[in-house]
Amino acid sequence: KINFAAGPAKLPEEVLLKMQEEQLNFNGLGVSVIEMSHRSKEFGALLNETISLIRELMNVPDNFEILFMQGGGTGQFAAIPLNLKGSHDHADYIVTGAWSSKAAEEAEKYIKVKKVFQPSKPYVTVPDQEKWVHDEKAAYLYYCANETVHGIEFSPTAPESHNVPLVADVSSNFMARPFDFKDHGVVFGGAQKNLGAAGLTIVIVRKDLIGKQQAITPAVFSYKEMIANNSLYNTPPTGGIYTTNLVLKWIKSKGGLQAIYELNLQKSGLIYGIIDNSNGFYHCAVDKSYRSIMNVCFRIGGAAGNEDLEAEFLKGAAERNMISLKGHRSVGGIRASLYNAITLEETQVLATWMNEFQKAHSA
Ligand code: PLP
Repeated sequence: KINFAAGPAKLPEEVLLKMQEEQLNFNGLGVSVIEMSHRSKEFGALLNETISLIRELMNVPDNFEILFMQGGGTGQFAAIPLNLKGSHDHADYIVTGAWSSKAAEEAEKYIKVKKVFQPSKPYVTVPDQEKWVHDEKAAYLYYCANETVHGIEFSPTAPESHNVPLVADVSSNFMARPFDFKDHGVVFGGAQKNLGAAGLTIVIVRKDLIGKQQAITPAVFSYKEMIANNSLYNTPPTGGIYTTNLVLKWIKSKGGLQAIYELNLQKSGLIYGIIDNSNGFYHCAVDKSYRSIMNVCFRIGGAAGNEDLEAEFLKGAAERNMISLKGHRSVGGIRASLYNAITLEETQVLATWMNEFQKAHSA
Protein backbone atom coordinates (compact mmCIF):
# COMPACT_ATOMS: atom_id res chain seq x y z
CA LYS A 1 0.00 0.00 0.00
CA ILE A 2 1.01 3.59 -0.51
CA ASN A 3 0.01 5.39 2.65
CA PHE A 4 -0.76 9.10 2.17
CA ALA A 5 -2.12 9.50 5.73
CA ALA A 6 -1.90 12.89 7.45
CA GLY A 7 -0.59 11.40 10.68
CA PRO A 8 0.25 9.04 12.18
CA ALA A 9 1.81 8.48 8.82
CA LYS A 10 4.11 6.37 6.73
CA LEU A 11 7.52 5.49 8.14
CA PRO A 12 10.51 4.71 5.93
CA GLU A 13 10.61 1.00 5.16
CA GLU A 14 14.26 0.83 6.28
CA VAL A 15 13.17 2.06 9.72
CA LEU A 16 10.39 -0.51 10.02
CA LEU A 17 12.71 -3.31 8.98
CA LYS A 18 15.31 -2.24 11.53
CA MET A 19 12.61 -2.20 14.22
CA GLN A 20 11.58 -5.69 13.22
CA GLU A 21 15.17 -6.90 13.31
CA GLU A 22 15.73 -5.46 16.78
CA GLN A 23 12.33 -6.25 18.23
CA LEU A 24 13.49 -9.11 20.44
CA ASN A 25 17.06 -8.02 20.87
CA PHE A 26 17.90 -4.32 21.04
CA ASN A 27 21.62 -3.66 20.61
CA GLY A 28 22.49 -7.23 21.57
CA LEU A 29 20.93 -6.77 25.03
CA GLY A 30 18.51 -9.69 24.63
CA VAL A 31 15.40 -7.59 25.28
CA SER A 32 13.25 -5.20 23.30
CA VAL A 33 13.93 -1.50 23.74
CA ILE A 34 10.40 -1.04 25.12
CA GLU A 35 11.16 -3.50 27.92
CA MET A 36 14.18 -1.61 29.22
CA SER A 37 14.43 0.79 32.14
CA HIS A 38 14.42 4.39 31.04
CA ARG A 39 17.11 4.94 33.68
CA SER A 40 19.45 2.29 32.27
CA LYS A 41 22.81 3.30 30.88
CA GLU A 42 21.83 1.90 27.48
CA PHE A 43 18.61 3.86 27.24
CA GLY A 44 20.40 7.00 28.42
CA ALA A 45 22.83 6.60 25.54
CA LEU A 46 19.96 6.22 23.07
CA LEU A 47 18.22 9.32 24.43
CA ASN A 48 21.38 11.43 24.27
CA GLU A 49 22.19 10.22 20.79
CA THR A 50 18.67 11.17 19.66
CA ILE A 51 19.06 14.66 21.08
CA SER A 52 22.43 15.03 19.33
CA LEU A 53 20.97 13.90 16.02
CA ILE A 54 18.19 16.50 16.23
CA ARG A 55 20.76 19.17 17.06
CA GLU A 56 22.97 18.14 14.19
CA LEU A 57 20.29 17.69 11.52
CA MET A 58 18.30 20.84 12.36
CA ASN A 59 21.37 22.86 13.21
CA VAL A 60 19.85 23.77 16.57
CA PRO A 61 21.84 26.65 18.12
CA ASP A 62 23.64 26.07 21.44
CA ASN A 63 21.31 28.41 23.32
CA PHE A 64 18.39 25.99 22.82
CA GLU A 65 17.51 22.88 24.84
CA ILE A 66 15.87 19.85 23.24
CA LEU A 67 13.16 18.17 25.30
CA PHE A 68 11.16 14.98 24.95
CA MET A 69 7.67 15.37 26.32
CA GLN A 70 4.24 13.74 26.09
CA GLY A 71 0.77 15.12 25.51
CA GLY A 72 1.22 15.72 21.79
CA GLY A 73 1.11 19.02 19.98
CA THR A 74 -2.15 19.62 21.83
CA GLY A 75 -0.37 19.34 25.17
CA GLN A 76 1.97 22.11 24.04
CA PHE A 77 -1.00 24.36 23.23
CA ALA A 78 -1.34 24.55 27.05
CA ALA A 79 2.33 24.15 27.98
CA ILE A 80 3.39 27.19 25.97
CA PRO A 81 1.34 29.81 27.84
CA LEU A 82 1.98 27.96 31.10
CA ASN A 83 5.74 28.22 30.59
CA LEU A 84 6.10 31.52 28.79
CA LYS A 85 3.61 33.90 30.35
CA GLY A 86 6.01 35.27 32.96
CA SER A 87 5.02 38.81 33.86
CA HIS A 88 3.34 39.42 30.50
CA ASP A 89 -0.33 40.07 30.20
CA HIS A 90 -1.00 38.50 26.83
CA ALA A 91 0.30 36.53 23.86
CA ASP A 92 -0.23 37.12 20.13
CA TYR A 93 -1.55 34.41 17.83
CA ILE A 94 -1.44 34.20 14.05
CA VAL A 95 -4.43 32.09 13.09
CA THR A 96 -4.09 30.59 9.63
CA GLY A 97 -6.03 27.35 9.98
CA ALA A 98 -7.56 24.75 12.26
CA TRP A 99 -4.48 24.03 14.34
CA SER A 100 -3.43 27.57 15.19
CA SER A 101 -7.09 28.27 15.93
CA LYS A 102 -7.18 25.36 18.38
CA ALA A 103 -3.90 26.48 19.94
CA ALA A 104 -5.29 29.98 20.53
CA GLU A 105 -8.45 28.58 22.07
CA GLU A 106 -6.53 26.35 24.49
CA ALA A 107 -4.09 29.11 25.42
CA GLU A 108 -6.98 31.35 26.50
CA LYS A 109 -7.24 29.24 29.66
CA TYR A 110 -3.77 30.38 30.75
CA ILE A 111 -3.10 33.75 29.17
CA LYS A 112 -4.96 36.57 27.44
CA VAL A 113 -4.86 35.80 23.71
CA LYS A 114 -4.80 38.45 21.01
CA LYS A 115 -5.17 37.47 17.39
CA VAL A 116 -2.90 39.66 15.29
CA PHE A 117 -5.53 39.86 12.58
CA GLN A 118 -9.08 38.67 12.23
CA PRO A 119 -8.81 35.37 10.40
CA SER A 120 -11.38 34.87 7.69
CA LYS A 121 -12.67 31.48 6.65
CA PRO A 122 -12.18 29.46 4.57
CA TYR A 123 -8.51 29.44 5.48
CA VAL A 124 -6.51 29.74 2.27
CA THR A 125 -3.61 32.07 2.95
CA VAL A 126 -1.32 33.85 5.36
CA PRO A 127 -2.52 37.47 5.47
CA ASP A 128 -0.16 40.26 4.54
CA GLN A 129 2.29 40.81 7.41
CA GLU A 130 2.22 44.58 7.00
CA LYS A 131 -1.40 44.60 8.12
CA TRP A 132 -0.79 42.78 11.38
CA VAL A 133 -1.10 44.56 14.67
CA HIS A 134 2.47 44.86 15.93
CA ASP A 135 2.95 44.33 19.62
CA GLU A 136 6.25 44.27 21.46
CA LYS A 137 4.62 43.63 24.81
CA ALA A 138 3.33 40.16 24.02
CA ALA A 139 4.87 37.18 25.83
CA TYR A 140 5.34 35.54 22.44
CA LEU A 141 4.04 35.45 18.86
CA TYR A 142 2.58 32.08 17.96
CA TYR A 143 2.23 30.56 14.50
CA CYS A 144 1.65 27.18 12.93
CA ALA A 145 4.41 26.50 10.41
CA ASN A 146 2.23 24.08 8.47
CA GLU A 147 -1.54 23.83 8.75
CA THR A 148 -2.12 20.12 8.20
CA VAL A 149 -5.86 20.31 7.60
CA HIS A 150 -5.78 23.16 5.08
CA GLY A 151 -2.38 22.64 3.45
CA ILE A 152 -1.04 26.13 4.26
CA GLU A 153 2.65 26.52 5.05
CA PHE A 154 4.64 29.53 6.18
CA SER A 155 7.43 29.40 3.65
CA PRO A 156 10.21 29.95 3.15
CA THR A 157 10.38 32.42 6.03
CA ALA A 158 8.83 32.65 9.48
CA PRO A 159 6.68 35.65 10.44
CA GLU A 160 8.36 38.84 11.57
CA SER A 161 8.75 38.63 15.31
CA HIS A 162 8.32 42.27 16.41
CA ASN A 163 11.00 41.67 19.07
CA VAL A 164 9.09 38.95 20.89
CA PRO A 165 9.99 35.24 20.80
CA LEU A 166 8.32 33.30 18.02
CA VAL A 167 6.63 30.03 18.92
CA ALA A 168 6.32 27.59 16.02
CA ASP A 169 4.16 24.50 15.74
CA VAL A 170 6.12 22.37 13.28
CA SER A 171 4.13 19.17 13.90
CA SER A 172 3.47 18.54 10.22
CA ASN A 173 6.63 19.91 8.62
CA PHE A 174 9.21 18.91 11.21
CA MET A 175 12.49 18.38 9.31
CA ALA A 176 10.75 18.63 5.95
CA ARG A 177 13.09 21.50 5.12
CA PRO A 178 16.01 23.32 6.77
CA PHE A 179 14.78 25.44 9.68
CA ASP A 180 16.01 28.88 10.70
CA PHE A 181 15.84 29.36 14.49
CA LYS A 182 16.25 33.13 14.17
CA ASP A 183 13.85 34.99 16.50
CA HIS A 184 12.34 31.73 17.77
CA GLY A 185 11.74 30.93 21.41
CA VAL A 186 10.00 27.57 21.16
CA VAL A 187 9.74 25.12 18.27
CA PHE A 188 7.64 22.03 18.90
CA GLY A 189 5.86 19.16 17.23
CA GLY A 190 4.59 15.64 17.66
CA ALA A 191 6.78 12.95 16.11
CA GLN A 192 3.99 11.03 14.39
CA LYS A 193 4.16 12.61 10.94
CA ASN A 194 7.77 13.08 9.85
CA LEU A 195 9.76 11.80 12.78
CA GLY A 196 8.31 8.59 14.11
CA ALA A 197 5.45 7.36 16.24
CA ALA A 198 2.65 9.02 18.19
CA GLY A 199 3.43 9.61 21.86
CA LEU A 200 6.64 11.61 21.59
CA THR A 201 6.54 15.40 21.45
CA ILE A 202 9.77 17.20 20.68
CA VAL A 203 10.12 20.67 22.19
CA ILE A 204 13.08 22.92 21.41
CA VAL A 205 13.27 25.83 23.86
CA ARG A 206 15.54 28.87 24.04
CA LYS A 207 17.39 28.79 27.34
CA ASP A 208 16.60 32.35 28.45
CA LEU A 209 12.86 31.54 28.39
CA ILE A 210 13.16 28.74 30.92
CA GLY A 211 12.03 29.31 34.50
CA LYS A 212 9.09 31.63 33.83
CA GLN A 213 6.43 28.96 34.31
CA GLN A 214 3.18 29.71 36.10
CA ALA A 215 2.79 28.18 39.58
CA ILE A 216 0.01 25.88 38.38
CA THR A 217 2.15 24.32 35.62
CA PRO A 218 2.04 20.52 35.93
CA ALA A 219 5.56 19.15 36.46
CA VAL A 220 5.36 17.02 33.29
CA PHE A 221 4.59 20.17 31.29
CA SER A 222 7.26 22.30 32.93
CA TYR A 223 10.21 23.00 30.64
CA LYS A 224 12.31 23.75 33.71
CA GLU A 225 11.60 20.38 35.34
CA MET A 226 12.13 18.55 32.09
CA ILE A 227 15.47 20.23 31.41
CA ALA A 228 16.65 19.68 34.96
CA ASN A 229 16.03 15.97 34.43
CA ASN A 230 17.19 15.60 30.80
CA SER A 231 13.59 14.67 29.87
CA LEU A 232 13.59 11.89 32.50
CA TYR A 233 11.42 13.60 35.11
CA ASN A 234 9.06 10.67 34.68
CA THR A 235 8.97 7.70 32.29
CA PRO A 236 9.36 9.07 28.78
CA PRO A 237 7.85 7.42 25.67
CA THR A 238 10.83 5.09 25.29
CA GLY A 239 9.54 3.30 22.18
CA GLY A 240 8.81 6.63 20.56
CA ILE A 241 12.30 7.96 21.25
CA TYR A 242 13.77 4.78 19.78
CA THR A 243 11.63 5.10 16.63
CA THR A 244 12.63 8.73 16.19
CA ASN A 245 16.27 7.78 16.66
CA LEU A 246 15.99 5.42 13.69
CA VAL A 247 14.13 7.99 11.57
CA LEU A 248 16.80 10.61 12.27
CA LYS A 249 19.52 8.20 11.19
CA TRP A 250 17.49 7.54 8.05
CA ILE A 251 17.25 11.31 7.33
CA LYS A 252 21.00 11.59 7.81
CA SER A 253 21.60 8.68 5.43
CA LYS A 254 19.52 10.52 2.81
CA GLY A 255 21.81 13.54 2.97
CA GLY A 256 20.10 15.61 5.68
CA LEU A 257 17.45 18.31 5.51
CA GLN A 258 18.57 20.07 2.34
CA ALA A 259 18.40 16.82 0.35
CA ILE A 260 15.07 15.90 1.95
CA TYR A 261 13.73 19.39 1.15
CA GLU A 262 14.71 19.16 -2.50
CA LEU A 263 12.92 15.85 -2.79
CA ASN A 264 9.86 17.26 -1.02
CA LEU A 265 9.79 20.15 -3.50
CA GLN A 266 9.93 17.70 -6.37
CA LYS A 267 7.14 15.54 -4.94
CA SER A 268 4.76 18.37 -4.13
CA GLY A 269 5.68 20.18 -7.38
CA LEU A 270 4.59 17.13 -9.33
CA ILE A 271 1.11 17.13 -7.79
CA TYR A 272 0.62 20.91 -7.82
CA GLY A 273 1.77 20.90 -11.46
CA ILE A 274 -1.02 18.52 -12.39
CA ILE A 275 -3.54 20.60 -10.46
CA ASP A 276 -2.42 23.81 -12.17
CA ASN A 277 -2.49 22.27 -15.64
CA SER A 278 -5.87 20.63 -15.27
CA ASN A 279 -7.98 23.53 -16.56
CA GLY A 280 -9.80 23.67 -13.26
CA PHE A 281 -10.63 19.97 -13.09
CA TYR A 282 -8.46 19.82 -9.99
CA HIS A 283 -8.60 22.86 -7.76
CA CYS A 284 -6.32 23.89 -4.89
CA ALA A 285 -7.77 26.84 -2.99
CA VAL A 286 -4.55 27.73 -1.18
CA ASP A 287 -2.67 30.90 -2.14
CA LYS A 288 0.26 29.75 -4.29
CA SER A 289 2.82 31.48 -2.05
CA TYR A 290 1.74 29.43 0.94
CA ARG A 291 1.02 26.02 -0.50
CA SER A 292 2.20 23.23 1.75
CA ILE A 293 4.90 20.89 0.49
CA MET A 294 3.62 18.32 2.98
CA ASN A 295 -0.19 18.30 2.73
CA VAL A 296 -1.51 18.89 -0.77
CA CYS A 297 -5.24 19.62 -0.51
CA PHE A 298 -7.48 19.83 -3.56
CA ARG A 299 -11.00 19.41 -4.88
CA ILE A 300 -12.07 17.58 -8.00
CA GLY A 301 -14.58 18.87 -10.52
CA GLY A 302 -14.13 22.60 -9.86
CA ALA A 303 -13.56 24.86 -6.88
CA ALA A 304 -16.60 23.66 -4.94
CA GLY A 305 -15.75 20.03 -5.56
CA ASN A 306 -17.96 17.32 -6.95
CA GLU A 307 -18.39 14.76 -4.19
CA ASP A 308 -19.38 11.95 -6.54
CA LEU A 309 -16.24 12.47 -8.60
CA GLU A 310 -14.14 12.66 -5.45
CA ALA A 311 -15.60 9.38 -4.16
CA GLU A 312 -14.86 7.76 -7.51
CA PHE A 313 -11.30 9.10 -7.43
CA LEU A 314 -10.73 7.67 -3.94
CA LYS A 315 -12.21 4.31 -4.93
CA GLY A 316 -9.92 4.09 -7.97
CA ALA A 317 -6.96 5.15 -5.82
CA ALA A 318 -7.71 2.38 -3.33
CA GLU A 319 -7.87 -0.13 -6.19
CA ARG A 320 -4.38 1.04 -7.09
CA ASN A 321 -3.20 0.50 -3.49
CA MET A 322 -3.24 4.18 -2.48
CA ILE A 323 -4.85 4.78 0.89
CA SER A 324 -5.78 7.67 3.21
CA LEU A 325 -6.23 10.31 0.52
CA LYS A 326 -9.55 11.65 1.79
CA GLY A 327 -9.45 15.30 2.83
CA HIS A 328 -10.14 16.31 6.41
CA ARG A 329 -13.87 16.17 7.19
CA SER A 330 -14.01 19.93 7.76
CA VAL A 331 -12.56 20.69 4.31
CA GLY A 332 -13.63 17.76 2.11
CA GLY A 333 -11.98 16.79 -1.15
CA ILE A 334 -8.60 15.13 -1.34
CA ARG A 335 -5.51 15.51 0.82
CA ALA A 336 -2.26 13.87 -0.23
CA SER A 337 0.20 13.99 2.65
CA LEU A 338 3.67 13.78 1.17
CA TYR A 339 5.76 13.45 4.31
CA ASN A 340 9.46 12.66 4.13
CA ALA A 341 8.93 8.88 3.99
CA ILE A 342 6.80 9.10 0.83
CA THR A 343 9.08 8.43 -2.12
CA LEU A 344 9.12 10.18 -5.48
CA GLU A 345 8.09 6.90 -7.10
CA GLU A 346 5.05 6.67 -4.82
CA THR A 347 4.14 10.26 -5.65
CA GLN A 348 4.42 9.37 -9.33
CA VAL A 349 1.84 6.61 -8.86
CA LEU A 350 -0.58 9.25 -7.54
CA ALA A 351 0.32 11.61 -10.38
CA THR A 352 -0.36 8.92 -12.96
CA TRP A 353 -3.74 8.19 -11.41
CA MET A 354 -4.66 11.89 -11.38
CA ASN A 355 -3.81 12.20 -15.08
CA GLU A 356 -5.70 9.03 -15.96
CA PHE A 357 -8.71 10.10 -13.94
CA GLN A 358 -8.91 13.51 -15.56
CA LYS A 359 -8.59 12.00 -19.01
CA ALA A 360 -11.42 9.55 -18.31
CA HIS A 361 -13.64 12.47 -17.28
CA SER A 362 -12.80 14.87 -20.10
CA ALA A 363 -15.44 15.36 -22.71
N1 PLP B 1 -0.49 20.83 15.27
C1 PLP B 1 -0.58 20.37 14.02
C2 PLP B 1 -0.07 21.23 12.90
C3 PLP B 1 -1.14 19.12 13.76
O1 PLP B 1 -1.23 18.66 12.50
C4 PLP B 1 -1.62 18.34 14.84
C5 PLP B 1 -2.20 17.02 14.62
O2 PLP B 1 -2.42 16.54 13.54
C6 PLP B 1 -1.51 18.88 16.12
C7 PLP B 1 -0.93 20.11 16.31
C8 PLP B 1 -2.02 18.13 17.29
O3 PLP B 1 -1.12 17.13 17.60
P1 PLP B 1 -1.45 15.96 18.59
O4 PLP B 1 -2.52 15.13 17.98
O5 PLP B 1 -0.12 15.28 18.69
O6 PLP B 1 -1.87 16.55 19.88
